[in-house]
Amino acid sequence: MKASQFFISTLKEAPAEAELPSHKLMLRAGLIKRVASGLYTWMPMGLRVARKVEAVVREEMNRAGAVEMLMPIVQPAELWQESGRWEFYGKELLRLQDRHERDFCFAPTCEEVITDIVRSEVRSYKQLPLNFYHIQTKFRDEVRPRFGVMRAREFVMKDAYSFHSDYDSLKQTYQDMYDAYCRIFDRLGLDYRPVAADTGSIGGTGSHEFQVLADSGEDIIAYSDASDYAANVELAATLPLSGQRAAATQSLAKVATPNIKTIAALVDFLAVPITQTLKSIVVEGEAEGELVLLLLRGDHQFNDIKAEKLPGVKAPLTMAGAAAIQAAFGANGGSLGPVGFKGRVYADFATEKGADWVIGANEDDCHYTGFNFGRDAAEPTFADLRNVEAGDPSPCGSGSLKLARGIEVGHVFQLRQKYAEAMKATFLDQNGKSQIMEMGCYGIGITRIVAAAIEQNNDERGIVWTDTMAPFTVVIVPMNYRKSDTVKAAADDLYAALQALGVDVLLDDRDERAGVLLNDSELLGIPHRIVIGDRALKEGMVEYQNRRASSAENVAIDAVAAQIQ
Ligand code: ATP
Ligand code: MG
Ligand code: MG
Ligand code: MG
Repeated sequence: MKASQFFISTLKEAPAEAELPSHKLMLRAGLIKRVASGLYTWMPMGLRVARKVEAVVREEMNRAGAVEMLMPIVQPAELWQESGRWEFYGKELLRLQDRHERDFCFAPTCEEVITDIVRSEVRSYKQLPLNFYHIQTKFRDEVRPRFGVMRAREFVMKDAYSFHSDYDSLKQTYQDMYDAYCRIFDRLGLDYRPVAADTGSIGGTGSHEFQVLADSGEDIIAYSDASDYAANVELAATLPLSGQRAAATQSLAKVATPNIKTIAALVDFLAVPITQTLKSIVVEGEAEGELVLLLLRGDHQFNDIKAEKLPGVKAPLTMAGAAAIQAAFGANGGSLGPVGFKGRVYADFATEKGADWVIGANEDDCHYTGFNFGRDAAEPTFADLRNVEAGDPSPCGSGSLKLARGIEVGHVFQLRQKYAEAMKATFLDQNGKSQIMEMGCYGIGITRIVAAAIEQNNDERGIVWTDTMAPFTVVIVPMNYRKSDTVKAAADDLYAALQALGVDVLLDDRDERAGVLLNDSELLGIPHRIVIGDRALKEGMVEYQNRRASSAENVAIDAVAAQIQ
């Protein structure tokens, strides 16, 4: 590619709204452009990177025996009603109506559509197992889109869904996907960790997240310093604690009758002082089970709220003892959440400062999230995590726990029969008997990976790509391309030679000052740079510099291609 025919648009300074290095660099390098909150255009340079990620994912999915297809982005409400998620998914599901006033949604994930396909296509155990995948745009109306494409509303996901006649077969494919994910993230050169994850209402151990390690990550993982044990903090919190904290947590459990897991998840986010008035609680879906209100602070104002008084709550509300909670978690948090409760809950608090908290509990993955729309509340930090602390004994019995932050780039999940049962995806077994299918799902955030990779690989000069992800592997920077015939001829020849070798090469023939070209090549993170100038050329030499190296070296122009390969 010649730069003059391509499109390069770099910025000296990142727009003020960007906080993370990856977000800043993606904007500065012109990889993405913001259209609206959580909505980005992938500019030509950025799209090349996303496509490279996609290619690796596609290759490894094919190698692992998954079959590519493509499902629609807009999906009919009927399928989502059948699975129950039309009601339960909550506000992340963007709903719309067509001209006939029929309900649709933008797919945030595709379990319903794929289950519908499989139940109509598959009759016999002989057709199973099956594993379908697609790479496609998803939409989630995230309450707080941020960090550019890291948490966008529209993003590209690879999602795969496997169907099985029995659990053993599901476990086999799950392992195959797990292994494929390791190959993918290895090939992309990411520093990552697979961690065991919570399976929520489904139970069992069948879920792992793939977390790219980064201090800016929104997730927290707990791992043993002496064994392979690694789990996301929500799961780690479900395991027995020791000592005083365990005793306090136990006594809390008695008061509130939830399990420890729920308590731990509840306190995750609301680690800011609560001096708020509860405005309303809205429960979507059929209320089942118990809704528990947990308060930590003495200065809260909703001590006297009774379940019956809360609009929209059908399930009984239980007040937990504030003293016990305080003993367990300290004085600075509070939360509200459902226990053994199916459905989605929103609680809306007005703070004294007028800021709003909304707490959502998602039945689907049993994760609790707290969102603060105010200006100035602190983000949760390690210190706010009262459920698992660094130095706790590892639940595996070996070593003690360390905590690290991570970016979730992939997730594999044994769904078991959740959707197949709700949507009646059955097959005839060897005895001609109708059975419900087993199912797994496997996601990778294609576009999030681009940001996560930059988060791990950047320096003061810009992005530092691996060869696998780089938009171009090599950049040729000719000095005076338009003025020196010898430089032009040498640059054109080398460009042609590298192209003939199948190398992804960019010839930066733009009519710009040398400093601009050199700075751009570093900002763009192109792994190999060849500078061609009159003086060295007289000796048959060019300057070669690896993006990770601190200085350039002179290399014979005939030998430089070999240097790169
Ligand atoms: P998160 O916990 O970050 O919200 P999730 O658990 O909701 O992610 P999954 O439903 O497991 O996400 O989707 C599979 C993958 O899609 C995730 O592992 C992540 O890489 C990617 N992904 C999810 N939400 C977003 C988003 N808003 N923007 C970009 N990528 C996303
Ligand atoms: Mg999410
Ligand atoms: Mg997650
Ligand atoms: Mg996930």
